[in-house]
Amino acid sequence: MIGFDNKNDSGESFNNEQKNLITALADEISRSIESKYSALFKSSYPRIPVGVSNRHIHLTEKTFKKLFGQDTVFEEMRPLYQPGEFASKHTVTIVGPKLRCIENVRILGPLRKYDQVEVSLTDSIYLGLNPPVTNSGSLDDAAPITLVGPKSSVFLEKGAIIANRHIHMTSGDALVLGVKNGDYCKVRIAGIKSTIFENVLIRINDNWRLQMHLDTDDANAAFIKGDVYAEFLGKM
Ligand SMILES: [Zn+2]
Repeated sequence: MIGFDNKNDSGESFNNEQKNLITALADEISRSIESKYSALFKSSYPRIPVGVSNRHIHLTEKTFKKLFGQDTVFEEMRPLYQPGEFASKHTVTIVGPKLRCIENVRILGPLRKYDQVEVSLTDSIYLGLNPPVTNSGSLDDAAPITLVGPKSSVFLEKGAIIANRHIHMTSGDALVLGVKNGDYCKVRIAGIKSTIFENVLIRINDNWRLQMHLDTDDANAAFIKGDVYAEFLGKM
């Protein structure tokens, strides 16, 4: 309710009927401004937990056996935030065309139907790779890379990508946030290096938990340390 003083222009007091009329009018105006400019009045956004993905590898069973030997069993080390997914006990060395390498690159489980190495742009520059920024599983333009395991090495003609920024969510989350699978959205990370990320891909699967994945380059740019939430600013 908007307040007003008790006198009209002629200095006479308003009667109750006039007061009620003015109050109703003021409330109506205030409501219509708020609904027209509601976005401007919105001060809090939905919050999404952020997970930082360090460089990692997904492998087929065939490639795993080749690198580690037929008798080696693929074993879990610890579960990841997404149900069913885990960090395995196994790591490999990755080698690029400059013959530089990065050691101890973790294989994530479960084993998949394709081989995929996910690196950051910083890793790519160091290794001399030129991978595309793309969705997980889209390997048509992936960069060539060599994996070295304890038993053997494997050259992947199309193996390395820089994963798109993305948000995992259920169809219920998507309904609440007003998005659908494949949409791109905008999020903000608050803090000393407050950053807005655009082109964040929405990925929907009812087995997932709501979480945004950034690579280490993006996370470092926003000075992300520990448990952090992103503010969901809406679709692109
Ligand atoms: Zn992810």
